[in-house]
Amino acid sequence: MKSMRRMKRRLKKSVRVTFAVMSALFILVSTIWVMDIGEAKSNEGQENLEKVMAKETGEQQPVKKQTDEVKEKSSEESGDLPDQEGQEDEPVDSVTVDAPLPQEESTVDQPGVDASSEDKQAQEEQTVQDEQQSVYLTFDDGPNENTEGILNVLERYDAKATFFMLEPNMRRFKDSVKDMAAEGHAVGMHGVTHDAAAFYQSSQSVVGEMKKGQETLESITGIHSNLIRVPYGSVPNMKPSYRKAVDQAGFHMWDWNIDSEDWRLLSQEYVPNVMEQINAFPYKHSPKIILLHEKDVTLEYLEELLIDLTEKGYRMKALTDQMDPVTF
Ligand SMILES: [Zn+2]
Repeated sequence: MKSMRRMKRRLKKSVRVTFAVMSALFILVSTIWVMDIGEAKSNEGQENLEKVMAKETGEQQPVKKQTDEVKEKSSEESGDLPDQEGQEDEPVDSVTVDAPLPQEESTVDQPGVDASSEDKQAQEEQTVQDEQQSVYLTFDDGPNENTEGILNVLERYDAKATFFMLEPNMRRFKDSVKDMAAEGHAVGMHGVTHDAAAFYQSSQSVVGEMKKGQETLESITGIHSNLIRVPYGSVPNMKPSYRKAVDQAGFHMWDWNIDSEDWRLLSQEYVPNVMEQINAFPYKHSPKIILLHEKDVTLEYLEELLIDLTEKGYRMKALTDQMDPVTF
């Protein structure tokens, strides 16, 4: 019985609360409606005021100043301020403000009409410029327990990267391999043993390790990748006969031209190290290939690197099979 009463009391209370809320809403809506009408009327009044003010030529500057002040005061003071601004600007400023826009549009349209060769040249220049504003982050030696963290940071900065992976690690961290492929990163091979003596024993061992990685990668992701990076880079271990064998097997071997040295520095120092090399990058027509590893410290300061790169206007892209590989 007690609980029944309590429920009834609660019910009554909730009905009262609902009624109060609905009344408040009704009053609010009515007020907004009345204010709208009032505003429309006051706009009419302002137009007249404007005409009077326009006659008094000396008044123009103070009017502008007032507008600026209003802008600075910001949005706190309710919705009728923007209208006021619009009204004030119309007779005085609107012509000068709007004029540049149509002009700009017409100059953009002009090249398309006559010169197609100029168009092509402009496009090529645009491509070169885009490439100069692009960087290619490449992560070696994974996947491992840092991969998911790396993927999360990359996603937050809309960054794509390339992963050169060791075959046993791919089998251990299959889900991470699937994730990186699903999120649009490039996937490639880094061999099986990562042991210089074993890997560089012969052209067969080089190609064999990469093929094994290629098969494992394909079985996990369905992607047949030709992107490879040999352990420790191609110099001095890749003999001409090895390079030929790798080419014939259809692989695209990538080295790098910016070394983060994350493996040696083992501190956040790798970030300024990358940025310095980017700032001093000497090749106009070469993509910027940044060597990184899936190390704890690399993950720890990856966000810092991405912030720096983004601030400098760089876009982080993934390598493709269509690109000309950068080699030493
Ligand atoms: Zn490596």
